[in-house]
Amino acid sequence: MKRILIMGSTGSIGTQALEIIRKNRDRFSVCGLTCRSRIETLKQQIREFAPEAVSVGSAEDAAMLQREFPGLTVCFGEDGLVEIAKMDCDIVLNSLMGISGLAPTYTAIGLGRDIALANKETLVAGGAIVTQLCREKGSRLLPVDSEHSAIFQCLEGNGGSACARAYADPDSSLYRPVRRILLTASGGPFRGRSLEEMRNVTIEQALNHPKWSMGSKITIDSATMMNKGLEVIEARWLFDVPADKIDVHVHPESIVHSMVEFCDGSVIAQMGMTDMKIPISLALSYPDRMKLLADFADGYGCDDPLSRSSDGSLDLFTTGARLTFEKPDRKVFRCIDLAYEALKEGGAAPVVMNGANEELVAMFLAGKIGFLDIPQTIEKVMDKSSFPAPKTVEEILETDRRSREMAKEMLV
Ligand code: MN
Repeated sequence: MKRILIMGSTGSIGTQALEIIRKNRDRFSVCGLTCRSRIETLKQQIREFAPEAVSVGSAEDAAMLQREFPGLTVCFGEDGLVEIAKMDCDIVLNSLMGISGLAPTYTAIGLGRDIALANKETLVAGGAIVTQLCREKGSRLLPVDSEHSAIFQCLEGNGGSACARAYADPDSSLYRPVRRILLTASGGPFRGRSLEEMRNVTIEQALNHPKWSMGSKITIDSATMMNKGLEVIEARWLFDVPADKIDVHVHPESIVHSMVEFCDGSVIAQMGMTDMKIPISLALSYPDRMKLLADFADGYGCDDPLSRSSDGSLDLFTTGARLTFEKPDRKVFRCIDLAYEALKEGGAAPVVMNGANEELVAMFLAGKIGFLDIPQTIEKVMDKSSFPAPKTVEEILETDRRSREMAKEMLV
């Protein structure tokens, strides 16, 4: 029985993880849950899964929950997330949004826990110190991001699964058969558009992702393709592969979830339905695989009906068996190159890019700025800032705060 702590349990990844756990009560128990503000959903989850501890966003909600569930340990705020990350468990599923995922992940890794990582910002901002701590403590990072789960699966049995092998082996360069990572991208809702055509897009248009149903922050990141930029950085740290060996391939069908090219020229791809339950379940049950098809044959909201046959399996005949690949338009989707530049520059640059992006996406979702203000302002903040390289979680969070301030000031 694996004890699972789910951070961000009321979001898209968290609720799908609980659907899987609901059908597999003999394998998993839920020891802790966290959410920021969806308290009614959290209450239902507490009644159904009976965790020992929860953490919520505000002190008021915490007090209310404590009255309703006297036996439950209830924490709140950023400190609450770090506190609950210390609880005894086998896996922490980190599906928090944004930089808030960093400190609790770092705390859990410090205690030797395995992390099922859906929160890519943890690695974008803290990749160096997080992977270093994983090596020291023997913690595994099990990717939940669909592309990184795909890469992880392609590497399995090919001498290079960084998560399972290299982190335990400090000299991971001993055997590196990986020549290139082919990171796929759906292209988002604005694939094929010109900059001019994107100038006046609405929040609703940007939130209308063609393939995946996700939280609003990551959906906007997909529309700007910053999501792919963040994923390049995530892959660099997860698999210890330099940025110039990571190639973004736009693949609108989203059937191939990423590929790995090996030194002998062989390319291994992982394919499947656009269903986040596949990477979530693999991260939770690794190294085993679970019988998802039997449990979820009728499908859920985020599935693409075109690729799902009546028994729930991938049906390449109904998709027309046409898988296409194209180069991303790097002039229109500037965020991809901003991420490569941040990775190349190193130091504070990825933290600055990530912090500015998070602030600007929130401002766009609040209707305060236009869509193209997001990439343009990130670039300005990256150009103007000269923060020293942060070396601790505290310094990363401080650099994040100052980058957000800069982004806001530039738009006044
Ligand atoms: Mn992804």
